[in-house]
Amino acid sequence: MRYFSTRGGIAPIRFKDAVMMGLADDGGLLLPESIPTVTAADLEAWRSLTYPQLAFEIISRYVDDIPADDLRHLIDRSYATFSHPEVTPVVRKDGVHILELFHGVTLAFKDVALQFLGNLFEYILAERGERLTIVGATSGDTGSAAIHGVRGKQGITIFIMHPEGKTSAVQALQMTSVLDDNVHNIAVQGTFDDCQDIVKALMNDLAFKQQYRLGAVNSINWARVLAQVVYYIYAWLKVATPGQKVLFSVPTGNFGDIFAGYLAWRMGLPVQQLLLATNENNILTRFINEGDYSVGPVVQTVSPSMDIQVASNLERYLFYLVGGDTARVRAIFAQLKREGRISFAPEELAQVRRDFCSVSVNRARTLTTIGSFLQETGYLLDPHTAVGVAAGRDLAELGETPVICLATAHPAKFGEAVQEAIGQPAPLPAAIARLQGLPTRCTLLPADQWQVRAFIEKTVS
Ligand SMILES: *Cc1c(COP(=O)(O)O)cnc(C)c1O
Repeated sequence: MRYFSTRGGIAPIRFKDAVMMGLADDGGLLLPESIPTVTAADLEAWRSLTYPQLAFEIISRYVDDIPADDLRHLIDRSYATFSHPEVTPVVRKDGVHILELFHGVTLAFKDVALQFLGNLFEYILAERGERLTIVGATSGDTGSAAIHGVRGKQGITIFIMHPEGKTSAVQALQMTSVLDDNVHNIAVQGTFDDCQDIVKALMNDLAFKQQYRLGAVNSINWARVLAQVVYYIYAWLKVATPGQKVLFSVPTGNFGDIFAGYLAWRMGLPVQQLLLATNENNILTRFINEGDYSVGPVVQTVSPSMDIQVASNLERYLFYLVGGDTARVRAIFAQLKREGRISFAPEELAQVRRDFCSVSVNRARTLTTIGSFLQETGYLLDPHTAVGVAAGRDLAELGETPVICLATAHPAKFGEAVQEAIGQPAPLPAAIARLQGLPTRCTLLPADQWQVRAFIEKTVS
């Protein structure tokens, strides 16, 4: 399998090179030259597989430059760190199915991809005798999952930027309490989008990127999207009868998670539609419902991991939307840079609406949903999951199609919001309780790529 860029500016590369490249050298995102097909017979044959076995079946279709036994071993090690034997179990509550993606070490769905990516990086670097400097931006969950994916690993140094004071207390602690020599936290005086802009600026400086061997852990990395495809198929196998279509409700920020669902659908998974749920940062909802893609300011919400305006993974979807026309993708992003908005043709927007429906759920409705869902079902939602459940429940009431809501974080990770919703704190799992009072390390810097660059240069050399 070979990978190319959505902007058409690189020669096709193989899987391991795609993982190491992160953002494509031409500023685009990497995609596979063809999408492997999953047939109804494959799905039925997969019903009894464990999560790691299923992950191997799916991931191996996209990877032809790692021996099967090595790939199986990487996958097994990645999911052995999960605290639930099913890795991503599905529970049924009050008319909706909840796909629990928070049983990894940092209690958010990003562990599913980043445990795998950390092991993959280490494997490729050892094989090549190379080193890697990871530079990432996080609104909270990516950073902690990435740090825990690579802490102590040979050949890797990681720099994670988070917007100062805009992550939850637990998120900050999960990152800054990791004191391994290869882990560096940077608190940036700005927003998540500022952090992401700095990463993009550094990655787009090819000389700097090559000198420091920069790699990405943001959801722009192809291996992350790929690892996330697995749980859509896993959930379908648990919920649906042969051939039955389902709806997935996905609390969305950077569009990485829901894009994995779109890919599973394109592979042949029976899906009726994807429900894209947003908080007040609802640019994607406006895009889907009104065809209006114009960038506004980032608003701080009770679901901070979704406080994003420019969703970088949307580019992968737009590539398919415009029929694989890389010149048009380049034009779209030139327009976005110039005008802060993108315009689409009516038939393109009609296609978007066939693929997605979208609901924006505000703070009040998120908190009410946490409260009412707890009262009715005894099940405590985290604020991100609540956004998706609020949107998904409406659809579940309308029809017969099973609705699978992705539970993207454990409620204890967002204790402040849960406390506000139900008047008492979420019970603390041991993984969080043991963080209290630990020593921390973090460097505060302004939202300026040159200062971040200088810090990286000084630290690595
Ligand atoms: C990252 C994150 C999201 C958003 O996922 P994207 O892939 O960025 O769309 C939603 N919920 C939680 C808890 C997250 O950490």
